Amino acid sequence: MPDADEFDVAIVGAGAAGLATAIAAGREVARRGASQRIVVVDGAGRPGRKILVSGGGRCNVTHDVVDETSFHGSTPAAIRKVLRRFGVEDAIALFHGLGVELVREEGGKLFPASGRARDVLEALLAGARSAGASLLHPFRVESVVPVDGRFALQGPQGRLRATRVVLATGGRSLPGTGSDGHGLEIARTLGHSVAGPVVPALVPLVLDAGCFLRELAGISAPARVLVLGASGRRLASAEGSVLCTHFGLSGPAILDASRHLAMARAAGDACSLAVDWLPRRTAAEWEAAILARPGIGPGRFLREAGLVERLADALCRHAGVDPSRPMHDLPRERRRALLASATALVVPVVGDRGFSHAEVTAGGVPLAEIRLETMESRLRPGLHLVGEICDVDGRIGGYNFQWAWASGHVAGIALGGQGAIPRATGDRRVADDAGHGAGHGLGPRAKIS
Ligand SMILES: Cc1cc2nc3c(=O)[nH]c(=O)nc-3n(C[C@H](O)[C@H](O)[C@H](O)COP(=O)(O)OP(=O)(O)OC[C@H]3O[C@@H](n4cnc5c(N)ncnc54)[C@H](O)[C@@H]3O)c2cc1C
Repeated sequence: MPDADEFDVAIVGAGAAGLATAIAAGREVARRGASQRIVVVDGAGRPGRKILVSGGGRCNVTHDVVDETSFHGSTPAAIRKVLRRFGVEDAIALFHGLGVELVREEGGKLFPASGRARDVLEALLAGARSAGASLLHPFRVESVVPVDGRFALQGPQGRLRATRVVLATGGRSLPGTGSDGHGLEIARTLGHSVAGPVVPALVPLVLDAGCFLRELAGISAPARVLVLGASGRRLASAEGSVLCTHFGLSGPAILDASRHLAMARAAGDACSLAVDWLPRRTAAEWEAAILARPGIGPGRFLREAGLVERLADALCRHAGVDPSRPMHDLPRERRRALLASATALVVPVVGDRGFSHAEVTAGGVPLAEIRLETMESRLRPGLHLVGEICDVDGRIGGYNFQWAWASGHVAGIALGGQGAIPRATGDRRVADDAGHGAGHGLGPRAKIS
């Protein structure tokens, strides 16, 4: 009989990717009529908290069109290789099988029909258990050390051993949920590099305290956001709602643009952010439209173009233009200033809200170091890496969860296909790389279920 703290597979992290791995691995083992001891450990007292807060408490599980063009980080070809092994239909079927029906909303996002993220989490936890995996929490892993062809996992709650280990520890976003980036350090100690810089992505931006947009908190408008390099070259653009807040800007277009800004700035590029509040037409077309309406005021013009009154008036004043004075009174340079304010407003970004407000992490273990048919490390056989710990970050809209389901599924099928893994005989005590015996055993506080 194996020791109580000895497993075939130990999955570190009971988030989206770890639970998807456990479900796929357990089911594959059962399909083959084999047996394996699979454990999912998590440092958090309540695992899966990030799923609970996702999508505003509704969990945007996936998107109806997912391909590599919605992701950044590792190469598109590498990302595609994983995504195509577990598509959106597979995710829908997975959740259907777990008793969670998904509904599509306008724009293509898929949510649970109940509108409750809790249903997603509970279904995943139940699915992992019924697939035969044990859940152990809180069990924080401080180190993963190769010993005699296996791995010793150690942390404050105790230690355990496993033939294969899956790092599903997420990145650094929302560290209060347990994803504090320590998994990246563990990956480093096992020989992996971390493609960097590691920066917050899908994160709101902080504007200079004097910026007039901060006084418009609560106002949102559809816009196009441009990230411009120091030379004015367009580095990236994103379209969607922009929300003014008391600290700066948020909303989908800002969140999507944020990783590009953070990456460029971390690389030393003095880039800037510009907002086009009137993205339906070009600046030249808007100028022609202004010239065709000489009798109306700029404030009314912008309102007719779709902006709410407070934003329209604020953009006029920012351009040094009286919102109610007729257009024909505007000298050419004021007209141009108005156009610049409305279609290419450069906003003074002083920073972002950091990992504690970021939905995802940009940077991580490069896919070039991982076998994409199995998510197994090319550098450390027996180690697998899934989910946000990888150098893959998606746009807002369900893409990041789809990456978690897909990479977890790929790893799980490979792990489940391993069959019962023969254990080395001899001394079963945990020892470090230097061969120092360290004893073993789960601490009394860890709950196994
Ligand atoms: C507020 C918010 C809203 C979001 N909304 C959406 C959305 O609607 N749709 C979408 O697609 N994406 C969304 N995301 C992103 C999505 O939640 C993540 O991309 C996804 O959860 C990543 O899954 P993961 O399993 O790789 O990592 P995580 O979910 O971060 O899970 C990692 C787990 O590992 C555990 N762990 C970490 N280190 C250790 C350790 N050393 N020892 C033991 N356990 C450890 C953590 O406690 C955690 O439970 C949102 C993110 C946030 C923060």
